[in-house]
Amino acid sequence: LANGLKRTSSKLTDNLGGLLGSDRLDKATLDDVEDALIASDLGPTTAARIRDRLTDARFDRGVDEKAVRVVMADEIAKVLGPVAKPLRIDAFPRPQVILVIGVNGSGKTTTIAKLAHLFLEQDYGVMLAAGDTFRAAAIGQLKVWAERLGVPIVTGPEGGDAAGVVFDAVKQATATGIDVLIVDTAGRLQNKRELMDELAKVRRVLGRLNPAAPHDVVLVLDATTGQNALSQIEIFKEVAGVTGLVMTKLDGSARGGVLVAAAEKFGLPIHAVGVGETIDDLRPFDANELARAIAG
Ligand code: GDP
Repeated sequence: LANGLKRTSSKLTDNLGGLLGSDRLDKATLDDVEDALIASDLGPTTAARIRDRLTDARFDRGVDEKAVRVVMADEIAKVLGPVAKPLRIDAFPRPQVILVIGVNGSGKTTTIAKLAHLFLEQDYGVMLAAGDTFRAAAIGQLKVWAERLGVPIVTGPEGGDAAGVVFDAVKQATATGIDVLIVDTAGRLQNKRELMDELAKVRRVLGRLNPAAPHDVVLVLDATTGQNALSQIEIFKEVAGVTGLVMTKLDGSARGGVLVAAAEKFGLPIHAVGVGETIDDLRPFDANELARAIAG
């Protein structure tokens, strides 16, 4: 397992450690296992399916902990496998426009920098747009990343019109042959109506310049928020449309089990995971790897 993901397993392992020491998986133990799986944010559907599989497997002659974990990882991977989809740059005409959305603090800005770095490594021309005009700090932070990465950035004044910034950015990106335009957006969920209007306007402007844009609407989720990620997906789906997910901060103690519940519920592609604060700390989403990390 990649170092960054190792610790994601700790919580479920803790929860299950005692249970798996039992002689056999009787009903009470299976109940406890199911509860532990739900407590790990896996969601009731997957938890129930794992329970069924464990019942079928009949651990009559003692509980083989390793076999139990294999069953779990297997069921989790079945859910995550179909949604593991890297972000591809394949839109024509260029540029491919990627809107990045998410609540403040989720790791949105850092993820934009990581994605820019990834696309640069793949030899694409990248441009950033500072569409979060609400926070001066957000504009400044994105500028710093753009300088570090050596990519052009389009910004507007603080409190200015986000759609205007995006309009300018698409014009410039088109004129200069940019392949990928990554757009930061405001993450003020506190004022849902305003955010919705703003993102709708950004989408309208984009659509007028290129009917296929935005090509991707990537929602950034913070693994440490656990179950909360589900309601964020729900809200941002309504506010902005979401085409895919990135989960950050999987290098901490958070386990990312909620991605299983999210995959069950929404079936949205999961593009990548963040495992640290530097631009190299973005990994393509690997269903088997996360499944093994969650199952321990
Ligand atoms: P934004 O407000 O959503 O734009 O969030 P930022 O990109 O500014 O990130 C908020 C904090 O989380 C910063 O301190 C980042 O360095 C940190 N961060 C972002 N992604 C990750 C990650 O994958 N792992 C860790 N450990 N920290 C992260």
